[in-house]
Amino acid sequence: MTGTIAFIGLGNMGGGMAANLVKNGYAVRAFDLSQDALGKAVAAGAAAAASAGDAVSGAEAVVTMLPAGKHVEAVYGEQLFAAAAPGTLLLDCSTIDVATARRVSAAAADKGFAMVDAPVSGGIAAAAGGTLTFMVGGDDEAFARSRPILSAMGKTVIHAGGPGNGQAAKICNNMLLGATMVATCEAFAMAQKIGLDPQTFYDISSVSSGQSWSMTSYCPLPGVGPQTPADRDYEGGFAAALMLKDLKLATEAAAAAGASVPMGHAAEALYQMLVNRGDGRRDFSVMIDMLR
Ligand code: NAD
Repeated sequence: MTGTIAFIGLGNMGGGMAANLVKNGYAVRAFDLSQDALGKAVAAGAAAAASAGDAVSGAEAVVTMLPAGKHVEAVYGEQLFAAAAPGTLLLDCSTIDVATARRVSAAAADKGFAMVDAPVSGGIAAAAGGTLTFMVGGDDEAFARSRPILSAMGKTVIHAGGPGNGQAAKICNNMLLGATMVATCEAFAMAQKIGLDPQTFYDISSVSSGQSWSMTSYCPLPGVGPQTPADRDYEGGFAAALMLKDLKLATEAAAAAGASVPMGHAAEALYQMLVNRGDGRRDFSVMIDMLR
């Protein structure tokens, strides 16, 4: 039996992650503002706490999986720092902006806590199945302490460098993904318009220099390549609204660093249009419908 972990934010992702900690022998003390989310965690074997502070007191580590930077800053600043015992390991797995991640991490260090930012790649199915990839920012010692806990929830754990670098890796990767998906969609849409059979185009491009993960693992066209959300009318998968969230974080970080990201900006504008036309909940590869 391993130690007690406080888990705050038991939504689509956190619910599955907390259940995997329980399966791996951790005692989990859970808190969420939503009674529904908390109830599901209790059904999976976690103990319900009355508040974030209550969940944290006496825990050896705290995992947070919250919507955005403002929630993370509020929960840490208003509750966790006051309730956690000195030396507690803090792991924020939410996808948030790099600046907030670094600010919260510095505040944690000031108060004597070890902290990592450990955002994930992989969606709700990977969270439930324990097959997430974690990109981890933090010092070597905090990373070493976080590894067994993260390994109980995922299959790959990679140290990306100091505080905030987990978030940096996540948004650079997703900016690249957003841009290659748009480019893949427009190439397929154009191929069809100029009389090229999509399967023939796939057979050629998937073994040529236009190949990418967006084409060969996540083809946006139904009936072409492996089974993807396109084959389920773009249901399930990675919601376009979440891709837009990540692209906004990426262009914001680029502006702060003075990095030139014209493709990231173009992808952000296109995903904003996709969300505005009502496709925010559908898989992000539905971009091909709009470009057609
Ligand atoms: P979600 O909205 O389903 O879950 C967030 C949970 O946090 C909710 O249950 C909410 O009630 C709770 N919460 C909010 N404020 C709180 C507070 N102050 N105290 C306690 N609980 C609070 O979101 P999700 O899909 O689980 O995503 C969580 C994070 O993971 C986000 O940052 C998201 O960008 C990231 N992410 C999501 C996916 C995905 O496919 N859903 C994939 C990768 C990363």
